[in-house]
Amino acid sequence: MLSLATQFNRAQVIKLHDKQFKPFLDEATILKAVKKVAEEVARDYEDEVPIFVGVLNGAFMFVSDFLKQYPYDCEVTFVKLSSYQGLTSTGIVETLLDVSGDMEGRSVIILEDIIDTGRTLQQLVHLFSNSNVKEFKIASLFYKSEVYNGEYNIDYVGIEIPNRFIVGYGLDYNELGRNLRQVYQLNQDNMINLVL
Ligand code: 5GP
Repeated sequence: MLSLATQFNRAQVIKLHDKQFKPFLDEATILKAVKKVAEEVARDYEDEVPIFVGVLNGAFMFVSDFLKQYPYDCEVTFVKLSSYQGLTSTGIVETLLDVSGDMEGRSVIILEDIIDTGRTLQQLVHLFSNSNVKEFKIASLFYKSEVYNGEYNIDYVGIEIPNRFIVGYGLDYNELGRNLRQVYQLNQDNMINLVL
């Protein structure tokens, strides 16, 4: 059991646009979760060359650190989707770049920064529905299991988090905060404990 309140007792609240965010996950905790996901995927795909599909923009840091931890041959490509404006999901998932390349007969693993309601995931699954891939799996660094409403199993999860808006490590609040090495949570009164 990790007490986040203990880890961050010296850390500062930050301001992005009009909102305050408090430290939530430090860099070591995040990288440990990334490594865990990479090791789990590696165990399953040791004998083949999977295609990793990173979901832009938010997953760029996760994909980068994940690939550094992935020990076997692999390919990587990206899709760009977006569903959030400000702090809440708009419900509209826009596909800004389609998947290209021949994925037929290949194992495809989606690399998501965060899964919230599952709408984005639904759209992703739809994108791949005619591609005759051998296997389609989903890895997400952060997972809001309380609000996930989708029908697909999330195959690999880094850290389950509560239903609070977070920024940092690729995730933004109106485009700010992506470059933060830690993850911050929208400022509310109570701190929580997490089990990795
Ligand atoms: P979903 O479609 O599952 O509701 O939301 C997934 C997408 O919404 C993510 O890829 C991410 O772009 C955005 N999102 C969901 N929750 C958060 C959050 O707590 N913080 C930020 N910055 N983006 C989020």
